[in-house]
Amino acid sequence: MNHAQPYSMEITHAPDPRGHFGPYGGRFAAETLMGPLSELEAAFFSAWNDQAFQEKRMVLLKHYVGRPTPLYHAERLSKENGGAQIWLKREDLTHTGAHKINNTIGQGLLAHRMGKRRVIAETGAGQHGVATATVAAKLGMQCDVYMGREDVERQMPNVLRMRLLGANVIPVDSGTATLKDALNEALRDWVASCENTFYIIGTVAGPHPYPLMVRQFHAVIGQEARAQMLDQAGCLPDVAVACVGGGSNAMGLFHPLRDDPVRLVAVEAAGTGLNREHAASLARGRPGILHGNLTYLLEDEEGQIQGTHSISAGLDYPGVGPELAAMRDAGELELEQATDEQALHAFRTLTATEGIIPALESSHALAAGLRIASQMSPDQHVLINLSGRGDKDMNTVFKALGWLEEANQ
Ligand SMILES: *Cc1c(COP(=O)(O)O)cnc(C)c1O
Repeated sequence: MNHAQPYSMEITHAPDPRGHFGPYGGRFAAETLMGPLSELEAAFFSAWNDQAFQEKRMVLLKHYVGRPTPLYHAERLSKENGGAQIWLKREDLTHTGAHKINNTIGQGLLAHRMGKRRVIAETGAGQHGVATATVAAKLGMQCDVYMGREDVERQMPNVLRMRLLGANVIPVDSGTATLKDALNEALRDWVASCENTFYIIGTVAGPHPYPLMVRQFHAVIGQEARAQMLDQAGCLPDVAVACVGGGSNAMGLFHPLRDDPVRLVAVEAAGTGLNREHAASLARGRPGILHGNLTYLLEDEEGQIQGTHSISAGLDYPGVGPELAAMRDAGELELEQATDEQALHAFRTLTATEGIIPALESSHALAAGLRIASQMSPDQHVLINLSGRGDKDMNTVFKALGWLEEANQ
């Protein structure tokens, strides 16, 4: 078998021409954005089919991001956990420490190709803001990042990082002053500025063509992992597991595996419990419109967006990508959840057995992956997407473990 070239530029499982995945997705946006969105769609397909664009992208993914990322057989963890062999796709080893850079490189290059000199983004925890600011610095573009004031205060290190990178962070005071309000502000900015501005959305959500575009930019994860499994394990995994906030690392892993006999497991944040505070939109949401697309949302009785909770800021989002909503309905996904406590436990387990400190988001995938693996046999294989590294989560973890109080005594 020749696995030398895992990357494919063919677009399979495309949405319909109006951007629908089953009933979900679409383009629910202000009238003034319909033109710019059509222009973006045309520009994306033109770039995607342009060999020069793809070569530029692949060179940056290789030499700047550090792809292909390793597929790592966690042998000690597999043994301690019992059951199936555990394989980790190491997105934590990318430049900036999470999968998000795959997407911002793609959209940044597209912005550049379209002649836009300014990019804007929304960010919650600041991870997408940092990945966008990084690419803006690299490509020499002006960068404004919208961030809820609440988040600006909670995520100061990332705010300062963005400033260092030359980005301007704009605090948002409307609504609950968190991610969904930052998204609304960014859309508002774009309505007024689309002539010279490109809006870089951070996950597989937003109006068409964003969910498709972001999936394609992240598909390198699953394409590499598929080839690496065949090469290193000699077979495809039985199960592929990823955490779901908006769903970009999950779609990146799942998309290239969805036509194979592989169980796809989407892990949502169960927070303090599914009957308490959580962010499990696929498991507990119902269809509604948010950020330009129809998808599963967490709403209260009156149809207002519900406050969500997760120990990992990156999973703390009341919606989910529309394609995942369609895959859920079609029975293509197995839904799993991990609570804050289970994620923390998995975080500590991986750190102690393999010397790898994962992001808290990724720890949700780990928690469910370990649970599933323990019910399987040693000749079976579970592939887990390690979407990011845990450096950014040190404070949250120390606080949850009560170590900060100890240190102050
Ligand atoms: C942002 C983030 C996520 C969640 O976003 P998705 O779009 O669902 O992938 C998961 N893991 C890490 C490390 C993140 O930074």
